[in-house]
Amino acid sequence: MLEPEEKCAGRLFRERASKALDETNVQDPPDFAVPPVIGIYRHACNAKDGVSSAMELKEVWTPSPRIVVERADDGTLTAFLYAEWTPKDIDTWTVPDGRFGFVIREGRCRFCGKKARSRFGRVVDAYDRPPLDGRVIT
Ligand SMILES: [Zn+2]
Repeated sequence: MLEPEEKCAGRLFRERASKALDETNVQDPPDFAVPPVIGIYRHACNAKDGVSSAMELKEVWTPSPRIVVERADDGTLTAFLYAEWTPKDIDTWTVPDGRFGFVIREGRCRFCGKKARSRFGRVVDAYDRPPLDGRVIT
């Protein structure tokens, strides 16, 4: 079970990681948008006369940065990336880096070269769900 402070930190991480993924998908748009949970994507491959072909999707796992959660007197929680946080005289909770992972899938067809990437990622608890074999962004 996550503490409320961890949930607050996880929401900030999801928001930031999703925004970074959106930017990547605008700058380098994939040919296919794939869910972040599947390992194989089939498509009608141009290089094989439209025959359905499988491409392997590798997991891309981005760890969360260190996050500070402030607790106001009324109990309201607000999360900041540690790098953007200004210390204040207020109760805080620090969520260590790598506490969460942002998981997407990416792949490229070895026949036609078309790319697949997730449009949405999912945030996972790194203690319960460490990276699979894939690429970990550090
Ligand atoms: Zn192909």
